[in-house]
Amino acid sequence: MAYIQKHKEEGCVFCEAQGMPDGPDNLILYRGQQAFVILNRYPYTSGHLMVVPYTHEASLEGLQPDERAEMMELTTQIMSLLSKEYNAQGFNIGVNIGEAAGAGIIEHVHLHAVPRWTGDTNFMSTLGGTRVLPETLEDTFQRLQKSWRKMYPK
Ligand SMILES: [Zn+2]
Repeated sequence: MAYIQKHKEEGCVFCEAQGMPDGPDNLILYRGQQAFVILNRYPYTSGHLMVVPYTHEASLEGLQPDERAEMMELTTQIMSLLSKEYNAQGFNIGVNIGEAAGAGIIEHVHLHAVPRWTGDTNFMSTLGGTRVLPETLEDTFQRLQKSWRKMYPK
């Protein structure tokens, strides 16, 4: 019991998402051993994902080495996923730690993986002359979940 209480916090969006069934409501795309992949509810671009440890800790320093290692593995899988599904040409991968760094959710560390395209100065991106229109979150979720399952079957 103490273990569960230590790792789950009420009022934390990432802890609450873990307690819900996976789908367009909680936006969890994949659950690993130590961390999960979730779609950002307020994306910079379509396909903006986050890697979050199950453990409720404010900083990477509070995690165990295997938790950090899996976060990096999942980040790598996300890059392959977004390259394939969205033809991403680059990525911004980052972690904001602490209020001074502009973290949105300070108490539960999370890694952002944002796909980028050449010339994508705003939400609408140009890909080889074709317009890529913003999708609804639900469409992005369904699309990425299908693709994830195909690329990384259990
Ligand atoms: Zn939390």
